[in-house]
Amino acid sequence: MKRNLTILLLSVTSIAILIGIEFTLITRIYRLETEKFDDRYREILQKGLDFIERKYGDKGFKESYERMNTLSEKYFAIIAGKQFDTLDFRKIVLEGFQDDLINYQETDELLRQYLKSVKEDTNFESHLEITNLGLISFPDYLPVYSEKADSSWGLKKRLLIKEKQRPVYNYTYVDTNFSIGFNYYVDFNQKKGVVLSKILGSLILATFALISVGFMFFYSIRSLLEERRLSQLKTDFINNMTHELKTPLSTISIATRTLENDTILDNREKTKETVSVIHRQNRQLTKQINHLLEISMWERRQFSLERQMLEVEPFFSGIAEAFRWECQEKGCILEERYDIKSAMAYLDEVQMTIAVHNLLVNGVKYNTNEPQVLMEVHCDDRLKISVTDNGIGISREDQKHIFDKFYRVSTGNIHKVKGLGLGLFYVKQIVEAHGGTVEVSSKSGKGTTFTINMPTHGKNKNSTG
Ligand code: ADP
Repeated sequence: MKRNLTILLLSVTSIAILIGIEFTLITRIYRLETEKFDDRYREILQKGLDFIERKYGDKGFKESYERMNTLSEKYFAIIAGKQFDTLDFRKIVLEGFQDDLINYQETDELLRQYLKSVKEDTNFESHLEITNLGLISFPDYLPVYSEKADSSWGLKKRLLIKEKQRPVYNYTYVDTNFSIGFNYYVDFNQKKGVVLSKILGSLILATFALISVGFMFFYSIRSLLEERRLSQLKTDFINNMTHELKTPLSTISIATRTLENDTILDNREKTKETVSVIHRQNRQLTKQINHLLEISMWERRQFSLERQMLEVEPFFSGIAEAFRWECQEKGCILEERYDIKSAMAYLDEVQMTIAVHNLLVNGVKYNTNEPQVLMEVHCDDRLKISVTDNGIGISREDQKHIFDKFYRVSTGNIHKVKGLGLGLFYVKQIVEAHGGTVEVSSKSGKGTTFTINMPTHGKNKNSTG
């Protein structure tokens, strides 16, 4: 248990580390590809801006600068004779310049034309961020805004500058009335798509690796649990089998010692009775050993059905009749119902008798009430046999396992009721060999119904015969 827990913990930790490493790697690749994209486009854009400069003698801000000049004069008039450096006023000035800078620049349009001419993506958005602004009112220089000193103004947010983005260009421009420094940023709308498409291969591989590891992990854990379950079943089986073999053996041992006694040997009646006890216990032993042999036979799939056409109703009422005798002393009530249109079915008489008998026996074995068992047989193009009891019922969880080899419900009256956990395993094997299915429906404490459904003229399955 402790070992399994350690393995589980180790596996979970390894998977967590693996996910961490993969995540880091992917984010690094993403960052690298983004940088590659940015560097490439920065170079192209700078070439474009140089081209615009050569062609127009300016980088597309001519009209903005003219506007700003006029705007400066308006502010000089306001400033005249007043205190200039109130914070509110500086903010108003900055905003005025910012509007002119953004609204009257032609850089975006000119760049788009350039990008089109060199066959590059033209789908971008630009952002401008003023880093420095001052009014030149001779002979003084009146500082309005400085990125470092006035960072608390929160301009970045307003200008939609994305963190860590490098500007394509920083401009410094000095005119007669003002000096301005600003950054020009460009965002390509397709950037995310382009970068993602570049890392798609790595992403797919990483996801695939994760899914494989996850699957392997899940599979190993399942095998581990299954192994534990089987080992538990094996231990239970050995305990049960030992018990089943020990009882007749010790009875035989006592009986033979009794026979060694001369006074018993002289008594014919007593001798006969003791021999009959030995005989009965011997039969019991043979039955248990046959059980064991049958298991290995089923495992090696060497079982062969010997099917023949049987009249359905007499066949099943024969099984019921024999069972009624058997469970008489337990006060069991067995009811039979037949709904049979086509009276013949192609069945292995011995094996089907074992299967139905096992179901009937369980209906009495796992019952704390006065046992009442109902056997219903319906036959048209298929044969349907259901056995319903008023017993202790089977929980949903146990219903999933009761047809497994050696499985016994581990609670309730398991210690009181003898068994090897093979009865229902045989039922399933026999029914499937006939090409049919067996299902269970039950509620704890309310009783159980087993339903066999099989073809009447099917081919043998799992059989070598
Ligand atoms: P065994 O009877 O030898 O234990 P089975 O394969 O016949 O083995 O049954 C497996 C388990 O299923 C039993 O241990 C019992 O707990 C449960 N079971 C089977 N039939 C019934 C039933 N009719 N009612 C309640 N429990 C049942």
